Amino acid sequence: MDQLGALETLLQEDRVFRPLPGLVMEANINPQELASAYQLAAHDPLAFWENAALELQWFRRWDKVLDDSKAPFYKWFTNARCNIVHNALDRHIKTANKHRLALIWEGEPGDTRKLTYFELYRAVNKMAGALKNLGVVKGDRVVLYMPPLPETIIAMLACAKIGAVHCMVFAGFSGKALKDRLRDAGARCLITADGFYRNGRVVPLKPAVDEILEEQDAVDICVVVRRAGIEVEMHPARDVWYEDIVRHEKPEAMTEVMESDDPLFLLYTSGTTGSPRGIVHSHGGYMVGIHHTLNWVFDIKPTDIFWCTADPGWITGHSYVVYAPLLAGTTTLLYEGHPLYPQADRMWHITAKHGVSILYTTPTTIRMLMRYGNLFPRQHDLTSLRMLGSVGEPINPEAWVWFYQTIGRGECPVMDTWWQTESGQIMISPMPVGLLKPGSVSKPLPGVEADIVDRTGAPVPRDKGGLLVIKKPWPGMMQNVWNDPDAYRAYFEKIPGCYVAGDVARRDEDGYFWMQGRADEVINVAGHRLGTAELESALVAHRAVAEAAVIGIPDKIKGEVAKAFVTLREGVEESDELAKELKEHMKRELGPVAELKSVKFRKDLPKTKSGKILRRLLKAEELGTEPGDISMLEEE
Ligand code: ATP
Ligand code: MG
Repeated sequence: MDQLGALETLLQEDRVFRPLPGLVMEANINPQELASAYQLAAHDPLAFWENAALELQWFRRWDKVLDDSKAPFYKWFTNARCNIVHNALDRHIKTANKHRLALIWEGEPGDTRKLTYFELYRAVNKMAGALKNLGVVKGDRVVLYMPPLPETIIAMLACAKIGAVHCMVFAGFSGKALKDRLRDAGARCLITADGFYRNGRVVPLKPAVDEILEEQDAVDICVVVRRAGIEVEMHPARDVWYEDIVRHEKPEAMTEVMESDDPLFLLYTSGTTGSPRGIVHSHGGYMVGIHHTLNWVFDIKPTDIFWCTADPGWITGHSYVVYAPLLAGTTTLLYEGHPLYPQADRMWHITAKHGVSILYTTPTTIRMLMRYGNLFPRQHDLTSLRMLGSVGEPINPEAWVWFYQTIGRGECPVMDTWWQTESGQIMISPMPVGLLKPGSVSKPLPGVEADIVDRTGAPVPRDKGGLLVIKKPWPGMMQNVWNDPDAYRAYFEKIPGCYVAGDVARRDEDGYFWMQGRADEVINVAGHRLGTAELESALVAHRAVAEAAVIGIPDKIKGEVAKAFVTLREGVEESDELAKELKEHMKRELGPVAELKSVKFRKDLPKTKSGKILRRLLKAEELGTEPGDISMLEEE
């Protein structure tokens, strides 16, 4: 599609929710401060980000906040020296945070481990020493093929501490995906576990690793964490147990002095729209971006118990499970297992048991839990919650309202945060003091200059959809695409002077942004361009529907027609009448352009391993074409 044109606006969601006065009064940033922050950021964004950087500790200050002489390869905080681990751990040891809980971890069988900042600091130091003893040096890539364990966080921080670049590969990926990423990253060292618990079963990891490592000789060190207690083969020249290598290490270690733009990690995107790319993030800019956004968006306090349900293997896990909460000196919660194990109340059980105060999750999780109704949440005391969050996909207003009312008692604002692996940090999101519109990601944060434009870069009128672009660099932005600078440049070349995010959005008369879906999934029905999000939200608003995906299929007369795939709520039977009713419902809600050619019921929708609907797979199935890379497909 050359001409994106303007997208039709279908959904008119007009519910508005106000934050409670108590929350506004106690917020880290009150409305006056926010107004002046917006002013400063608009007038002098670099001064704004410099202020954010001054909240952290640096070994050497920057000469310049931003060097754009080699744009689009922007360098933040040039010639500054720092290490994110100094800020996330070392500095807390000298403050009252020392004996505060850094991590609450719960295993799927119900076993729990808690580490204070001091304990985490010592564990990281030991692992840092052990990695050095194994010959890992600054700049080496270390691949972590790890389930969500305390050792996963320890290993990430230990790598960063010694200046090694970690590269997490989600433990649910097959050996093939691991192999590709090991090769692309050029890693010598791999850290893994014997296995882990998922959905009541032990999932072995090490055998898949053995198979992969036999076929190559680049990786000559494999560290194994004992989690599941299953028997594994240990290759004598290559494999070592984590517990053995850390046992005699000193609990003190030097934190490597890094240049601000030295790489901290590389991480592959979810692969929702195509082949995953290895996104590179740095120590300096990234730490400023995530620290600032956690503080402002989630109003983080040291007393919070912050539960971001993402796996550490995704960007959300990197930024908001591991690094940002530790930078803030708060307590982060990590859960090993499946949200429905042993039954659909596990998340409410964990929330009540540990007194979670902020819960940050995905639309997919919310829709899944919603499918089980209100009985489970009502059986638990959820009053410790004070704020909620969503990320990863557009959230349907129905799911938003359910989350807000049933889980948040109508008192906890929902932060619908838009961002990407590439952006590193939250970019567009409400803040606790603002008005909330269910289904809208609200406005760009101060310092983020986002716009909605057509293919030529010209702004589209209010309430018309177009491409979401970012017009100025931001500190958490990726530094490169690993081994592929052309792929990096491509993000900036589609529209001169802009970073093109690949999503479509519209802006309403209040300046609120509404995400409409992926640019390459826009459906073009007789000249009307429709994003997938609003069509799907209208379907989810029907009482029978749990989840929906809409795709465009070629049509001789209309160019394309929309086809819906629908999963039903518990207890609802599929029937031809229901399919007909859903089509009628769509016409009634959205008008004739939203006519569905057909509705197909499914038990589940295909999703990525990070829980996003894989529309391109439905489309390939429908058209009988090749689906492309499907290594990210979650097989439940
Ligand atoms: P790939 O880039 O490999 O196709 P991906 O885009 O799913 O995969 P991520 O970086 O994990 O990889 O996800 C970022 C994308 O998720 C965004 O570009 C957007 O499409 C979607 N997204 C994230 N948060 C939101 C949100 N709050 N509302 C709507 N969409 C969101
Ligand atoms: Mg993407």
